[in-house]
Amino acid sequence: MTNSFRTLDSADVKSKRVLLRVDLNVPMENGVVSDATRIERVAPTIRELSDHGAKVILLAHFGRPKGGPDEANSLKPVAAAVAKQLGRPVGFASDCIGDVPAKAIAAMKDGDVILLENTRFHKGEEKNDPALVEALAKLGDLYVNDAFSAAHRAHASTEGVAHKLPAFAGRAMQAELDALTLALGNPLRPVAAIVGGAKVSSKLDLLGNLVKKVDILIIGGGMANTFLFAQGKAVGKSLCEKDLADTARAILEAAKAANCRILLPVDAVAAKEFKAHAPSRVVDVDHVAEDEMILDIGPKSIVAVEEALASTRTLVWNGPFGAFETPPFDAATNAIAKTAAYYTKSGKLKSVAGGGDTVSALNAAGVAHDMTYVSTAGGAFLEWMEGKALPGVEALRSK
Ligand code: AMP
Repeated sequence: MTNSFRTLDSADVKSKRVLLRVDLNVPMENGVVSDATRIERVAPTIRELSDHGAKVILLAHFGRPKGGPDEANSLKPVAAAVAKQLGRPVGFASDCIGDVPAKAIAAMKDGDVILLENTRFHKGEEKNDPALVEALAKLGDLYVNDAFSAAHRAHASTEGVAHKLPAFAGRAMQAELDALTLALGNPLRPVAAIVGGAKVSSKLDLLGNLVKKVDILIIGGGMANTFLFAQGKAVGKSLCEKDLADTARAILEAAKAANCRILLPVDAVAAKEFKAHAPSRVVDVDHVAEDEMILDIGPKSIVAVEEALASTRTLVWNGPFGAFETPPFDAATNAIAKTAAYYTKSGKLKSVAGGGDTVSALNAAGVAHDMTYVSTAGGAFLEWMEGKALPGVEALRSK
């Protein structure tokens, strides 16, 4: 086993009331789920528990209610979407604690599935209030957490309950933990990290942790501009956090001390205006004009990244190389994503990617399914890349 977590392999769930924490924070349009990806991810765990005769009680949060019930944040319409995905009925209880769910659960037969109303309708959820933890724990015999994306929060339903009941990782959580272990826990070397995206300021902890862990750190996106500026290069009108030049230099020093090679762009695609199909030119990073902005890395830089990937065994990737939503500034991200996918498919590379825009960038490049693992967890994935302990995961480990 790659992780020290109890999985469903060791859970005896028959006729048990299983509290299953899932991520059902799905996008909705006009009261209908518009993207069911998150439901698809947890469906195998729900099905497995139900097939093994558990009474499956789904716990989830939805949106950001102000600590009380409100219709706009009700999970009720999501129950129908889960039922559709599973191809079996899913009940709904209009509260997640107290008599309403207790009665509904008492009436469940083995294999039945019920969704309880938004845990965040209770203020105690985000405070990890012991009274709420107790009230939730009363409803189940076992606890299974399948919501890695919420595991960076020590909330009642993500952390508190795990200490009250025998706790297990669900299949989606297990896949995520396996992938993360593969990428940074005990990876095949050399390990490369790609960090791109907009700003250095949002990824300081991440960069600080990665230089200690990886053999090569490939920096792209707007944040590369800050590094280039810190090295004395003119970056024109590019997105650049000039006040972080010292910080960028400190990261470069830390990398040197840790024997981590840093790969920065040597050329760029620059434009005078930031709009789709704006006229642009390829320019060495030493020659960016005052009225230009860097919106993507250039062809020589792409080749350098691809050469680095050719000898890489493990890749962890967060953040695009350029302003990928606005063509043609998606070229480097697309090309490098395809190369990483090619090496992954040919068995030479383990590739784990995640965090916000990275998923859409890989989807846009058409290769999300060719990577070893793509995490849709956002904040939790980033905190993990920052080397932080995730309370929801730690609670499963300690059991
Ligand atoms: P992040 O959420 O930090 O991963 O940042 C992703 C965002 O960074 C995307 O919206 C990209 O458009 C943006 N981005 C990447 N490279 C650049 C760049 N050179 N200039 C401006 N924005 C960029």
